[in-house]
Amino acid sequence: MIKENLEKIRATVPEGVTLVAVSKTKPVSDVQEAYDAGQRIFGENHALEMRDKHEALPTDIQWHFIGHLQTNKIKYIIPFVTLIHSIDTANLLEAVNKEAQKHHRVVDCLLQFHIAQEETKFGLDLEEARELLESDAFRQMEHVRLCGVMGMATFTDDMEEVRKEFRHLKSIFNTLKNDYFAGQAQFKEISMGMSDDYPIAIEEGATMVRVGSKIFGIRSKK
Ligand SMILES: *Cc1c(COP(=O)(O)O)cnc(C)c1O
Repeated sequence: MIKENLEKIRATVPEGVTLVAVSKTKPVSDVQEAYDAGQRIFGENHALEMRDKHEALPTDIQWHFIGHLQTNKIKYIIPFVTLIHSIDTANLLEAVNKEAQKHHRVVDCLLQFHIAQEETKFGLDLEEARELLESDAFRQMEHVRLCGVMGMATFTDDMEEVRKEFRHLKSIFNTLKNDYFAGQAQFKEISMGMSDDYPIAIEEGATMVRVGSKIFGIRSKK
């Protein structure tokens, strides 16, 4: 079914929007099946799980980290990660920078914003992002490269609320682009939208969608 699911989703994702196949909790064999169907970009939210899958699977896979990243786990993913979507504090970005330096890498990252109504979802607000971007510490970080923003909408059936939150993230992106990244081509990504809301996210300007269960099936709760 994975191949069929992927084909269905691809038909709804326009050119220029990157599909991140979220394979968290799913076995290596499922990732391989998606790989065989042509998928090369996968998202994971646990560092050790991502490392183990990276070691077991083809080397041309691009691994995106999409979950809350604990500082002591950064080292497991820095050697190979393609994009970290979930930078939610200045300290985390600094710690990623430090680890990337050890590996002589410049690691691409997105700033995660809190756009949902739930208290539990991680992320910055605009003021915190400004503080980070205007800090001396940030200016000295030569081993991370900010490429855009990420957010998760409220878990709700109210699609108008979800749309409003995606618009909010897009406006945050526009503000940051204008104030800090004008003329910097790499700052272009808006990562928003999951299985149930990615079509709305695309309508509202997503450049990356993160789709799990619509490709791999429902996850059993851990
Ligand atoms: C699990 C997860 C997804 C994918 O969720 P689905 O509803 O299965 O598509 C996307 N983004 C993040 C940050 C996730 O943790």
